Amino acid sequence: MTTKRGFTTTLLHSDRLTHPEHGALHKPIHTSVTYGYDDVQDLVDIFQNKKKGYAYSRQGNPTVSALEHKVTQMENGLSTIAFATGMAGISAIILALIKKGNHVLASSYLFGNTRSIFQSFIDIGLDITFVDATSCENVKNEIRDNTKMVFVETIANPATQIADLAKIGDLCTEKGIIYVVDNTMTTPYLFRPVDVKASLVINSLTKYIGGHGNALGGSVTDTGLFNWANYPNIFEGFKKQVKPETLGMTQIRKKGLRDAGGTLAPEAAHSISVGSETLALRMERACTNALALAVFFEGHPLIKKVYYPGLESHPQHEMAGKLFLKYGSLMSIELDDSIDCFAFLNKLKLIVKSSNLGDTRTLAIPVAHTIFNELGPVKRAEMGISDSMIRLSIGIEDLDDLLQDFKNGLGEK
Ligand SMILES: *Cc1c(COP(=O)(O)O)cnc(C)c1O
Repeated sequence: MTTKRGFTTTLLHSDRLTHPEHGALHKPIHTSVTYGYDDVQDLVDIFQNKKKGYAYSRQGNPTVSALEHKVTQMENGLSTIAFATGMAGISAIILALIKKGNHVLASSYLFGNTRSIFQSFIDIGLDITFVDATSCENVKNEIRDNTKMVFVETIANPATQIADLAKIGDLCTEKGIIYVVDNTMTTPYLFRPVDVKASLVINSLTKYIGGHGNALGGSVTDTGLFNWANYPNIFEGFKKQVKPETLGMTQIRKKGLRDAGGTLAPEAAHSISVGSETLALRMERACTNALALAVFFEGHPLIKKVYYPGLESHPQHEMAGKLFLKYGSLMSIELDDSIDCFAFLNKLKLIVKSSNLGDTRTLAIPVAHTIFNELGPVKRAEMGISDSMIRLSIGIEDLDDLLQDFKNGLGEK
């Protein structure tokens, strides 16, 4: 009898339990681009999906597979495909699963580059519309007969709106629609989208999972809840080759990863794997720091507004408390009109002015001028992004040092 081990224990021993050579505790970095076989039948069987194995590393590599297995375990899913970046994963699911004549409904509160690529897909003829997904009613009203996918984020960046995750899950299940949840901001440590009936889960591995700002990566996990057998856009050839429950991921691996080529390098997969071992510890610390700082900002006369799901003032605070283990480490603040946003940022000596998030270090960025600059003022206003908004990704530094740096920035001693 096997008992299910805890989140961190599972990650720490995941490689070792597959018995890598020499008793290694880590899966080795396999740099080989291609794989050779003594019997050509083996190679043929791999090409025809009859046998598991590796042919060409653009669509599969043993080091990357070891990371995919870890993400699957973290997400309590069926299987995972890793990509070069989170964006590569997001593009791949659209390319692989959506066809002309289909409709995709996406949250209007999206990561900037996701919004931008969806716009590019619209420009080449796909039908994608945006809806305020903080209420399931809004989503329900926009569902059409040809809606094939609903795409939301858990906690949106930068204004921390939370999608009506559980109700949208019920709605998509009832309608047989693919429900994609981008779990980057919560990570599988705080939240598992499978628990709200998600079909596919996106993670930018670049962020909290890798955690150290030293490797790019992304992933798509199949939760096993969607019935791919009846999904009309699956390539006929695959239906004869693989089990019905693996059709979706076969399609994503072939039509999304193999053909579009957003492949994760084995060296990056290794860095992310090592980083992921401490995900739970880092999240605990970062979330604790974030809540303390959010309370400090909320009580500060020079801060106009704080966006953080852990505060009672947050519109979805209660829902966040029910769904997530903690409230995350991302927040945004708006400064009082009397202080200049750039002057404040330039006074920070410890906090890094940088665009990443989910790093071990605390990072700050003025949102309207940078990550949401291309959108223009109208779309920014629609998405709730003001000109003085600063996004903070809180790291795992000692809290007193962070408080001191922010106090300096606000002109306190
Ligand atoms: C960063 C991010 C992505 C994209 O991930 P990359 O690895 O940077 O390509 C997608 N979604 C969310 C919510 C993100 O924060």
